[in-house]
Amino acid sequence: MKLFNFKGERVFTPGPVEIPDRIREVLGRQIIHHRTKEFTEAFLETRELFKRLVDCTSENFVFFASSGTGAMEASVQNFFNPGEKVLAVVGGKFGERWAELGRTWGLEVVELQVEWGKSVDPDQVEDILNKNPEIKGVLVQMSESSTGAYHDVKTLAKITKDRDTLLVVDAITALGVYNMKPHEWGLDVVVGGSQKAFMLPPGLSMLCSPKRRKKG
Ligand SMILES: *Cc1c(COP(=O)(O)O)cnc(C)c1O
Repeated sequence: MKLFNFKGERVFTPGPVEIPDRIREVLGRQIIHHRTKEFTEAFLETRELFKRLVDCTSENFVFFASSGTGAMEASVQNFFNPGEKVLAVVGGKFGERWAELGRTWGLEVVELQVEWGKSVDPDQVEDILNKNPEIKGVLVQMSESSTGAYHDVKTLAKITKDRDTLLVVDAITALGVYNMKPHEWGLDVVVGGSQKAFMLPPGLSMLCSPKRRKKG
C-alpha cells in the first residue's frame, strides 16, 4: 500500500498555501520533548508572538491542534447553549459552515442570506437584532474566502457591543492580512487557522476571546 503519494504538486487554493522553504527546513528538524522546560518556553513565546500578531491582549487565547473548522466548532460549543438563537451570515461556503455547525450543536440558527460575492449590509443585521433581541450571537466571516468578500466586522461590532449578543468572527483568512483590532472594535471571539496567511501547514488553529461570557 502506498501510504504517501506526494509528488510535490503545486497547491493552488486560498489555503493551505505552499509552505515556504525556510519553514519547511524548520519542520524537518528533530522534535523537542513536549514535557521539557525548553518546549514550555517555546510554546509560551510562540503564544505571545501570535497574540501580538493578531492584537489579542486577552489571556483567553488558545491554540487547538485542529483545522480552523475545529476552532469554529469550539466557539459554537463553548459560547452558546443548546436551544439558544444565533444569527449566521451566509454569503458563501464558510458562512454555510457556521450555520451547519450551529445546527449540529443544537442552536437555533437564523440565516441571513447574502448574495455570494457581496458583503453583508450591517443595517440588515441591526434590523434582525432589533426584531429578535433573544439572539445570543452573530457568526460571520471577516473574509469569506470562497468568494473573496469582506464583511465589515468593525461596523458589526458597533451593533453588537451594547447587546447581550456575541460577535464571533471567523478570521481564518483575514488574520495576517487585514488590520484587526479585536479589543478596540469589540469583537468577542476571533478564530484563526495556520494554513492561510501564516503560511504554515494546516492542523493548528487559534481562538482569541477578549470578552468572557458565562454559560448557563
Ligand atoms: C479555510 C477556511 C476555513 C476552514 O479552515 P480548515 O482549516 O480547512 O478547517 C474556514 N473559514 C474560512 C474563512 C477559511 O478561509
